[in-house]
Amino acid sequence: MSAPATLNVDLDALVANFRALEAVGGVPVHPVVKADAYGLGAEACARRLAAEGARTFFVARTSEGEHLRTGLGAGPAIYVLDGCLAGRAGRLREADLRPVLNTDAQMAEWRAAGGGACGVQIDTGMNRLGFRPEAAPEPFEGLDLVLSHLACADDPAEPMNARQRDAFAAAAARYPGTVRSFANSGGIFLGGDYGFDASRPGICLYGGGPEGRPDDRIRPVATLTAEVLQVRDVPAGESVGYSRGFVAAAPRRIATVAAGYADGVLRSYSPRGLAFAGGALCPIVGRVSMDVCAVDVTGLDVAVGDAAELFGPNRLLDDAAAGAGTVAWELLTSVGPRVTRVYAG
Ligand SMILES: *Cc1c(COP(=O)(O)O)cnc(C)c1O
Repeated sequence: MSAPATLNVDLDALVANFRALEAVGGVPVHPVVKADAYGLGAEACARRLAAEGARTFFVARTSEGEHLRTGLGAGPAIYVLDGCLAGRAGRLREADLRPVLNTDAQMAEWRAAGGGACGVQIDTGMNRLGFRPEAAPEPFEGLDLVLSHLACADDPAEPMNARQRDAFAAAAARYPGTVRSFANSGGIFLGGDYGFDASRPGICLYGGGPEGRPDDRIRPVATLTAEVLQVRDVPAGESVGYSRGFVAAAPRRIATVAAGYADGVLRSYSPRGLAFAGGALCPIVGRVSMDVCAVDVTGLDVAVGDAAELFGPNRLLDDAAAGAGTVAWELLTSVGPRVTRVYAG
């Protein structure tokens, strides 16, 4: 193993998910690669997806767009979801980024700098970013994309989904000929009338299911593994880790694994978290500390230098997230900078 803790990224699986999302949605997929492609590495993921035909990408921040432009070179369109913040137009233009304008102030900022290709976000009920439909701008020169974002796409039974879809269809009708982008990962699976002209998935590209649980149409992409640093026998009655977070009721065999909360093993992995080691899913016991966690490998053949899997094909991302009381999005974006990213495919 090259490093104590490794995030292995299977780029072929990323492409398989990209194709699956194209097939299900029936419209071009515009990958969301914000937050360093959810921690997997925006440059590596976007370059591969561009080679597979993706022509348009989304990031959140101007700085993310600047890095991505350097990584991708000229050609693909890169939209910045933050829009055009005060004083930011020059940087956007310099890196050939397209702001997704959210407010009149952003419109004015972009126009004052000369304008150019950009998008507009319509808020159809999430009350996060974008123009309310009744306050949306008139069509204008440079506008080439209109988008809105679903609040409850991971829940197909939620009636708000259809309300947002209809509100978006009505609002977008003001901009004939402009690309309409609506569905995130979950939205792609809600049905053909959520497709519009282009989708905007993130989590399903990276291996999370559209409804926050594993889905066999989506392949695991990221695998977080860490090396076993030490294996010890803990007698009954002794404790493991900080604050005596785990007390052995019977003799246990404990592997100390080289991944802690600085690496993305959230403290909430304990007490319900599991790691795959020695061919089985094993409880993570006691408090997760900054650099290591303790895995109960009693009865298993586990030695120093072996790998323990925190999530991946043997411990699916959504299950690992549920075990930690969170969602796949947070789990992936929590993988720390000292974890080595290794690419295959
Ligand atoms: C993050 C984000 C997405 C991607 O969402 P997923 O649920 O990860 O597919 C799409 N659109 C917008 C506006 C976003 O902020």
